[in-house]
Amino acid sequence: MKLNRIGIILIASALAVIALVVSLLVARQQDSQAAQVRIKGVGLVKSLGGIPMALLQDGGQTAGLLNALLAYHDNGDFAYAAIIDAKGATLAEVAGRGAMMPSAPLPASAATGFGERTLPAAAGTPALREFFGPLADRTQGTAYVRVGFYPPRYTMLARDVSFLALLALAMFLLVPLIYFVIKREMAPLAALNVQLRQLAAPDEPHAAPAGEARELVDSMQTYVAQAGTRIAQLELGARNTMADNRLLQYGSKKLSAALQSLPDGLLMLDPGGDVTFVSGKVEPLLGIPADALLGQPLDAWCRDTPLRSLLMRYSGHGRQQPAHGRVNTVEFAPANVDGRQLSATAQPLSGGHGTMAFGTLVVLRDVTREYLSRQAGNDFVAHVSHELKSPLNVIAMYAEMLADSDEESIRVESLNVIQDEIERMNALVGNLLNVSKLDTGSMSPERNRVRLDDMLRDVHEQALPRAESRQLAVALDLPRDLDAVTIDKDLFRIALNNLLTNAIKYNRPGGTVTLAARNDGHEIVISVRDTGIGIAADQRDRIFEKFYRVSESGAPVARGGHGLGLYLAAQIVEMHHGRIVVDSEPGVGSTFSIHLKSAPAPAGAAVL
Ligand code: ADP
Repeated sequence: MKLNRIGIILIASALAVIALVVSLLVARQQDSQAAQVRIKGVGLVKSLGGIPMALLQDGGQTAGLLNALLAYHDNGDFAYAAIIDAKGATLAEVAGRGAMMPSAPLPASAATGFGERTLPAAAGTPALREFFGPLADRTQGTAYVRVGFYPPRYTMLARDVSFLALLALAMFLLVPLIYFVIKREMAPLAALNVQLRQLAAPDEPHAAPAGEARELVDSMQTYVAQAGTRIAQLELGARNTMADNRLLQYGSKKLSAALQSLPDGLLMLDPGGDVTFVSGKVEPLLGIPADALLGQPLDAWCRDTPLRSLLMRYSGHGRQQPAHGRVNTVEFAPANVDGRQLSATAQPLSGGHGTMAFGTLVVLRDVTREYLSRQAGNDFVAHVSHELKSPLNVIAMYAEMLADSDEESIRVESLNVIQDEIERMNALVGNLLNVSKLDTGSMSPERNRVRLDDMLRDVHEQALPRAESRQLAVALDLPRDLDAVTIDKDLFRIALNNLLTNAIKYNRPGGTVTLAARNDGHEIVISVRDTGIGIAADQRDRIFEKFYRVSESGAPVARGGHGLGLYLAAQIVEMHHGRIVVDSEPGVGSTFSIHLKSAPAPAGAAVL
């Protein structure tokens, strides 16, 4: 089917080629005939232009040379020859059969040289090709030669016909030859086509190829088998790569999740100083959103001078960077977050073994607590030094007075002051020791079931002398059936003493202090009430802080103290899983209440 189509195409191509060759030949023939007319025309104009006028024109007896032309050129394509003067009037003329010279004026170029032109045809005649030029003989004034020819008409000659016939025959003979060659060369391809179809649909019956086609089919089958194996290998490789990619993705996600969940903030900078990674903790620490950091250079986001100068040392390609493993840390208060202290540690990131640095890793850590406790430590040393120094100065002064004076009243006063100051220092040192035990965790309560009313009576009795010296009454208000509690008696005594000391210290002469206790459901509430100066509402939360003292004008200094009493009391109550609350009205008085879980006596239990 396909071969038949090729045969038809070959025949059509051969016919087209023959038509093309014939048309080319005809065109060539026409060109050559036109050239011959041109040669004739130009030659004739030049020849006539050199002949004297007298010879050209007819004489009385003789015919002019121009007439002789008619005899020579009357061969079909000659139209006319004429001599005309400058005004276009005909001086001599000869025309072929049926021809007539058109009365077209000559172009100006005719005076200087030879020329040619095509003149429009008169009705029913073909267009004329005219050649013209000047006449050398000027005896009758300026004159011109005009010679006209009919355009050549192509006529196929017998030899042309036989040549074209031979050519066509040769081409037609080539067609079957080419056809059979193609058919022979395409035979293996046709067989291959059959085989490929068989490969595609093995169940359908197909004829087996033979000879050269068999070889081709065999090589094709080998190639197909190899290609199949290669494709299988590539598919396996692709599957492995995909699995590797997934593993890599999983690994990188795991790593990213681990970095994100670190309690510290992580920043990574490239060697140029631009941020390339920001962990989730950075935003709350620096107060800058991750978007405003990623891809940004240092100048665009860092307003914290210490951090900035640290990172400047690590960024910039050309700069001398700190050696790998050299860690630098700075501490700073971030400009965008109030009341926070951060530490930033920078370290170059390198591939190890002296390879190029990938950039810098910056670890940001919230060190506010450490900073505050350092501050508190410094304050503490300054405070304690001051608190110890002032009684020592007073003691030194009164000891001198004691030594120098014989007056009994001065000696008694000096001794009293020295004793008071020693007591004060003793109280301070005792409190400091307890606080230090609390802070180091070495204060471990020894809890026992305790009959609380006995202990409260003791504490009340001890407070009486101090209260009386300040003209204060101390009342004790206990119910008869107060439940027992499980406490460390010694520690609890410190807490109650501190509350009673404050109730006396911050009271006014003539005032009262009441130590009371009551059962309240499963709790026992111990309260110390006074009619003293009271505590302003905004101070109540802070009075339990270590070293905190209300800066009421004059009051704290006059009454002395170290800001440790309530801190200790609150810590001790907390150790007993209780709570301490304060209720106060400035100028009226305060009530400190300790709430403890009661421990009702199991049958036969011992009570201390
Ligand atoms: P201090 O050694 O100053 O008494 P405390 O820790 O015992 O230290 O008390 C902290 C602050 O609480 C005191 O400076 C005082 O201003 C206030 N305060 C404590 N108890 C009373 C109270 N009963 N009445 C008024 N203010 C009190």
